[in-house]
Amino acid sequence: MTTTATKWVYLFREGDGGWRDLLGGKGAGLAEMTKAKLPVPPGFTITTEACTAYYASDRQFPDGLWEQVLEALREVERELGRTFGDPKNPLLVSVRSGARFSMPGMMDTILNLGLNDETAAGFAAQTGNPRFVYDSYRRFIQMFGKVVLEVDADHYEHAIEELKKRRGVTLDTELTADDLKELVEEFKAITRRESGRDFPTDAYEQLRMAIEAVFRSWNNRRAIDYRNINKIPHDLGTAVNVQAMVFGNMGDDSATGVAFTRNPSTGEPGLFGEYLVNAQGEDVVAGIRTPKPINEMKNDPNLPGVYDQFLAVAQQLERHYKDMQDLEFTVQQGRLFMLQTRTGKRTGPAAVRIAVDMANEGLIDRATAVQRVEPAQLDQLLHPMIDPAAKLDVLATGLPASPGAAVGKVVFDADEAQQLGQAGDKVILVRIETSPEDFHGMVEAQAILTARGGMTSHAAVVARGMGKPCVAGCGALAIDYRQQQFSVGSTVVRKGDWITVDGGTGRVILGQVPLVEPELSGHMGTLMQWADEFRRLRVRTNADTPHDAQVARNFGAEGIGLCRTEHMFFEGNRIDAMREMILADSKAEREAALAKLLPYQRDDFVGIFRAMDGYPVTIRTLDPPLHEFLPHDDETQADLAAKLGVPVEKVRDRVEALHEFNPMLGFRGCRLGMQYPEITEMQARAIFQAAIQVKREGRSVLPEIMIPLVGDVNELERQRAIVDRVAREEMAAAGEQIDYLVGTMIELPRAALLADEIAQQAQFFSYGTNDLTQTTFGMSRDDAGRFLPMYVEQKILPDDPFQVLDQKGVGKLMKMGVELGRQTRANLKVGICGEHGGEPSSVMFCHRIGLDYVSASPYRVPIARLAAAQAAIGETVRDK
Ligand code: PEP
Ligand code: MG
Repeated sequence: MTTTATKWVYLFREGDGGWRDLLGGKGAGLAEMTKAKLPVPPGFTITTEACTAYYASDRQFPDGLWEQVLEALREVERELGRTFGDPKNPLLVSVRSGARFSMPGMMDTILNLGLNDETAAGFAAQTGNPRFVYDSYRRFIQMFGKVVLEVDADHYEHAIEELKKRRGVTLDTELTADDLKELVEEFKAITRRESGRDFPTDAYEQLRMAIEAVFRSWNNRRAIDYRNINKIPHDLGTAVNVQAMVFGNMGDDSATGVAFTRNPSTGEPGLFGEYLVNAQGEDVVAGIRTPKPINEMKNDPNLPGVYDQFLAVAQQLERHYKDMQDLEFTVQQGRLFMLQTRTGKRTGPAAVRIAVDMANEGLIDRATAVQRVEPAQLDQLLHPMIDPAAKLDVLATGLPASPGAAVGKVVFDADEAQQLGQAGDKVILVRIETSPEDFHGMVEAQAILTARGGMTSHAAVVARGMGKPCVAGCGALAIDYRQQQFSVGSTVVRKGDWITVDGGTGRVILGQVPLVEPELSGHMGTLMQWADEFRRLRVRTNADTPHDAQVARNFGAEGIGLCRTEHMFFEGNRIDAMREMILADSKAEREAALAKLLPYQRDDFVGIFRAMDGYPVTIRTLDPPLHEFLPHDDETQADLAAKLGVPVEKVRDRVEALHEFNPMLGFRGCRLGMQYPEITEMQARAIFQAAIQVKREGRSVLPEIMIPLVGDVNELERQRAIVDRVAREEMAAAGEQIDYLVGTMIELPRAALLADEIAQQAQFFSYGTNDLTQTTFGMSRDDAGRFLPMYVEQKILPDDPFQVLDQKGVGKLMKMGVELGRQTRANLKVGICGEHGGEPSSVMFCHRIGLDYVSASPYRVPIARLAAAQAAIGETVRDK
């Protein structure tokens, strides 16, 4: 009996599928399957709390843990009539990690634990199958050596290859029992040589060390990287599952496999998976032998009835969990055993299709379907595809492992992929196969291409998780790491060469292929329609050109939340007129230059109003520091001076005069229009002339003029007076009425603090959270890249506040601003147009504080729509 009160160990039959926090995902699934009387080999789960306690007590097993492990082991022995460590009738177990969230990068599995020279001999005698036993034994040493003693796996692989060469065979399965016995001795020697210690022969010592290795793997670099990228807390700990072995490598009537209840890449209904005859689990996942599609199991003469039984189990599990399941199974001498069920990871397209299909099948309701898709996952459906009209030089075709097309330069090394990717290069990581060691390179690559491995290989699973295109198992590639090149037939592709991969079809194409924009149709269209039924927030877009406005409309934007007019001044010879305006000495000169700009602005607005027919368009008056428009090098200064017919010194002096130490806090925003009201006047005129023109075409135009960087109501009052006057003049001249609003951005803390005063003049607020974050933190948005990553890494801040809204600080100002503003003007319209308007958690926050709309860049409009719907659904669920 144990003396401690804490229960660290649960038999599968004692556990519950709902205890994911305690038992981890795998443990909870095993408990649930055991409860449902599915064929699950007996075993037990060591809780995540035990792992946390292990770390809390300086890497010691907590009191009572080992005793409870032994007790549970006794139960498993009783159930199976075998004894752990017994030379005649040994019980062998698997030891597997299983965190709350499945995590590539952590130790995953050790199989066949409990084997040593004595138990192997006894087990061989008992089964009459020494080949199988010594195959299991050499696998065990290899896995144990690799994950517990940290021996480089290549040493073992090399020894197998050498032995095969000596025997003149090509397949592992052609090695005899004696060969494998010899390999066992060699593996032991390798382990001793590489780890500096003997391979442990005592079964209990093996078990103890394996459990500790799982605990330790929670904090290896790959696991930590993965948690950082996926925002998984570091203090959850992992559970450890110890389970009686069943053997897929007992002959041709045995097999191992993995399957999803629906296609994790496309979402298509129906079992999707692979199996390998006479093999153990790691053979499938490691991509060493290429497995067969699961459908072929139907007609496998050595596995009669197994497919139907597996299908029934799969369907039962999917109905039970009401979600797509990721299953692992083993067939031992014709008998099916389930080793895992968990919610399957899927690509964005698959997530969408599965959610919509399941709602249509009546398995879940529409609200659940809308909540099932992570908004960020939609990104994958919004990525470019290969232009159907493009001429393709298809080099080879592999498995379509993760959809989307990508163009990049070939690299063969994960470190290099990381370096180049972080430097802004587009690279495609090409590997024979990937392993968790490559994860950091995969993160930075545009796409992943492997020569070996199936749809469930490491590369495929990880790429799908990250939403990156992946072509796996492209056997035609002969990859030569040493030469840093691969070849297909006589074609050689070297490091740095451009290729295009299409993860939706598996094609590998030479060169840079043009890509085209996706559309919201099919399942995605349906899901977005359902999302729109739930959301309260409106979703607009940030767009400065008619083209972007149109793209955003196609993605469902309900107006423009921010049109940055300054971008319009850079095109063609407009910049000359702009520079002329800045260099002008008098108001008259300035007005003359502005008069040249007016028609350009008007035409741009006409295009945008047309594209947004019927929806509001928020146009912001000039914002950036003037010097951004000026020529800074000698050549362009001379060029400009010549064009304007002024001495080059004049240009140079003016540029120097406009120099600012802190331009972001300098002469910018509405301060420009305060100093030079004629700029605001010209812009207002362009807006109203365009609005009148488009209205006369029979369209509906709703301009909203927005004044940036306001810190005091007096600024807004004066700028608004200009806009209102110009509006009156233009409308009177044209004899047309235009409904318009004048409002302000809230992007300075002072504006949020005095929002009640500002609302006297503002008909709407739009939070410019880029600047508001910058000014609240006192951190330059252009320079914070130097230190912010360190802040996030060291958890000084949870996220980069320029990407994910700082709800605590900036959010507090926003909330205050909304409340104060609406005290003055109850119907004040409030939106957000900073980058955060397209970031899911920030969108949800905007919903909660009562904003009317968010505005996102065109490609993030669908993401914002979905996040807004989820925020609304979350609220009703909470209120119930
Ligand atoms: C903002 O500050 O949030 C904003 C939208 O304006 P800009 O990024 O142009 O400064
Ligand atoms: Mg701003």
